[in-house]
Amino acid sequence: MKLAVLTSGGDSAGMNAVVRAVVKAGILKGCETWIVREGYEGLVRGNTDAETPSSPLLSTTLDVKINDPTFIQNLRFGDGALLRDGTGDHPSGRTLKGRYIVRVGWDDVRGWFAEGGTLIGTARSQAFRTPEGRLNAAYNLIKEGIDALVVCGGDGSLTGADIFRAEWPSLVQTLRSQDRITDEQVSRHGHLRIVGLVGSIDNDMSMTDLTIGAPTALHRICEAIDNIHSTATSHSRAFVLEVMGRHCGWLSLMGGISSGADFIFIPESPPKADPWEDAMCEIISKHREIGKRKTIVIVAEGAHDVNLKPIRAEYVKDVLTDRLGLDTRVTTLGHIQRGGRPCAWDRILPTLQGVNAVDALLEATPDSPSYMIGIQENRVRRVPLVEAVKMTKAVAEAIKVQDFEKAMSLRDPEFRE
Ligand code: ADP
Repeated sequence: MKLAVLTSGGDSAGMNAVVRAVVKAGILKGCETWIVREGYEGLVRGNTDAETPSSPLLSTTLDVKINDPTFIQNLRFGDGALLRDGTGDHPSGRTLKGRYIVRVGWDDVRGWFAEGGTLIGTARSQAFRTPEGRLNAAYNLIKEGIDALVVCGGDGSLTGADIFRAEWPSLVQTLRSQDRITDEQVSRHGHLRIVGLVGSIDNDMSMTDLTIGAPTALHRICEAIDNIHSTATSHSRAFVLEVMGRHCGWLSLMGGISSGADFIFIPESPPKADPWEDAMCEIISKHREIGKRKTIVIVAEGAHDVNLKPIRAEYVKDVLTDRLGLDTRVTTLGHIQRGGRPCAWDRILPTLQGVNAVDALLEATPDSPSYMIGIQENRVRRVPLVEAVKMTKAVAEAIKVQDFEKAMSLRDPEFRE
């Protein structure tokens, strides 16, 4: 099997650990391993040179014997060593210019555990949203002989993966009718093996308890609130923190619990009291009366009131200032929530799921569904990608129309092996 891995959409900690796990597990199981730079955009652009050069050290058929010293020697270097240099030149004369689909070996991903973000790049690709873009993406994969793909990204990326998988047979037929691929390629690539891993700081995907990158983002939020804590206490100030998460309140809720926040606004559960300003001020006044010197209010970026009017940090600040006379500041945590070293769990989860993803691809048949690898109750599980995507959209829809009970029940469906 020729296996490629890409990272797509918003970056998250742990994506490098995904690439590392997929590449290493792939090699150990006898696959040829590739990475796609810049997410789906790299897939659409492909390699502009006629033939992809790859390291002479890599043999096409991998005889996998981990204890054989020549095994490791043979697998050490693909062209991924260039990844850190971006598109720049390399002393070996090799370059990544015009090459988005790159063969990689064991050493290319060595030490990738501790790196934040994604070293193979990510992008938001308009081209992949179009049928022509996906046709080119299919062509570029087939051209390199790649027949299995791991996509690590958020719900958007996995929606794209699902569409690509469903369209694959017709894309192959179109490419054949355009004479871009041969009959032999049609028979070899009649079926695309594809697996999704959820890389997202938001923890907003249904059918998995945790997404890759969410635990690290939560750590960053905790650290930030700890830092604010000391200055808030010193000056007896109030701080309103805007936290990421799009339509999902997980980061805000967990961040609030882990830092003892006074009030938390999340999209899934808008304040029931109307007007909520009175309820919030009452609670915060009580906290002050019993001796609390600082106030922390967390506002999820997607928070709104029961009438679906967005709740903004600046407005909450004005309420606290005007009604309670508190010296109030707003801190928007912004992109520091995304960055930095992955915490331990964002190394373990991608590793377990990356290995499982390779197994799922090896076991895939034309009749089996494409899977998303999730985790539920501390066990790594496979769920049909199409269902996970459908369920995630249904949750978003339910939140939009304020059917929170439905949203919560959809977020906790039964897993399938
Ligand atoms: P995330 O994966 O973090 O949710 P996006 O929603 O931006 O981020 O999706 C990442 C990429 O996935 C998009 O730039 C696009 O290339 C692809 N994608 C998303 N939705 C679709 C779709 N409906 N059809 C095809 N591709 C899609």
